[in-house]
Amino acid sequence: MKKIAILGSTGSIGRQALAVIDKNRDRFQVSVLAANSNAGLLYRQIKRFRPERAVMFQEQAADNLRKMIKGKMKTEILSGSRAIDMISSDKDIDVLLVAVTGISGLVSVINALRNGLCVALANKESLVAGGRFVMEQISKGRGMLIPVDSEHSAIFQLIAGADKKSISNVILTGTGGPFRGKSFEQIKDATIAQVLRHPRWNMGKKVSVDSATMVNKAFEMIEARWLFGLGADDIKVVIHPQALVHSLVQLRDGSYLAHIGPTDMRIPIGYALSYPERLGNIMKTAQLSELEDISFEKVRPPFDRPLRIARRIIEQDNDMGIVFNAADEVAVESFLEGRISFGDINRIVEYAMKHFRASGIRTVSDVTEFDLEVKRLIKKHIERF
Ligand code: NDP
Ligand code: MG
Repeated sequence: MKKIAILGSTGSIGRQALAVIDKNRDRFQVSVLAANSNAGLLYRQIKRFRPERAVMFQEQAADNLRKMIKGKMKTEILSGSRAIDMISSDKDIDVLLVAVTGISGLVSVINALRNGLCVALANKESLVAGGRFVMEQISKGRGMLIPVDSEHSAIFQLIAGADKKSISNVILTGTGGPFRGKSFEQIKDATIAQVLRHPRWNMGKKVSVDSATMVNKAFEMIEARWLFGLGADDIKVVIHPQALVHSLVQLRDGSYLAHIGPTDMRIPIGYALSYPERLGNIMKTAQLSELEDISFEKVRPPFDRPLRIARRIIEQDNDMGIVFNAADEVAVESFLEGRISFGDINRIVEYAMKHFRASGIRTVSDVTEFDLEVKRLIKKHIERF
């Protein structure tokens, strides 16, 4: 029986992870559930999965949750960042699924690895901003990292056991998002509803906006760089609208290995939770007949802009991922609040990449402090819009 803790259990990935666990009660036991403020949903999850502990990041929400469960269930309710730190370093947990959004996952990932835990990582932002520090733990032989992001899960599976010398490059697939084939002029004033209407995946708001701007794929390049130790020339991106080929690996002899499966995040989530075993009852398999019409296209302007930023960060081997991530977090939030247009998101990110220099980053605290400084200044910049 594997003991599972989920940071971000009320989100898109968290809810799908619980659906996988629910179907595999003989394998998994939920020990901890954590979320930001959605006390109503966390209450229902506690009722169903009876974890030992649950964390609400927001104090007020934790108080509400305590009132809801009082006298009914034994789950201990904790709150705040210290509680998150505590559960992410709990050696009694077998797998910690980090499924929060933004840089808030970074400290948890590092805590967990430092304590030798296995981390199922959905939170790509922690690698974009602090990949160097995450991988430092792995290189010291501490803990284990299993990607949940579908492309990286695919590559992880494709290269398992492969001779590194036989690999030429990896190719991340992306659907192209809701605006594939459109010009900047056509999409710059897109509404929130249009942006959130992803053609293939049903995801949380932040990653949906990132998919529409292509920042998500840029983040995934940086994620691949850290997870698989690759250089800028070794990571390619191709548009594959059907989202059935989850990524490819090109070998030195010119052939490709491809990972094919249904468009369903429960599969990579299930794989990360059950690794090295595989679950047999997640959902239907992809029918080969669905592959009749699959296609691959080049990334076209304006969607290549964020990819160029990622490429530069990887080539220059610097800490500008902190700026990239922080500016994007603020810009996406401002867009979702209706303060800026869709087209402004990439403009703000590009402004930040020109405006800031990431130097003297030596510790994880340096990362989180610099992140806050960039966010503060970008918010000021947006106020002047
Ligand atoms: P959602 O926005 O749907 O969910 C985020 C979750 O994190 C919620 O449970 C939220 O709680 C919780 N949360 C946010 N901040 C904190 C905090 N400070 N402390 C504790 N909990 C917090 O996001 P997704 O599930 O879509 O994405 C999660 C991560 O996975 C992201 O990094 C994303 O890029 C990545 N990912 C997602 C995919 C998807 O299909 N959704 C695919 C691949 C990667 P509350 O509900 O209370 O606000
Ligand atoms: Mg992905």
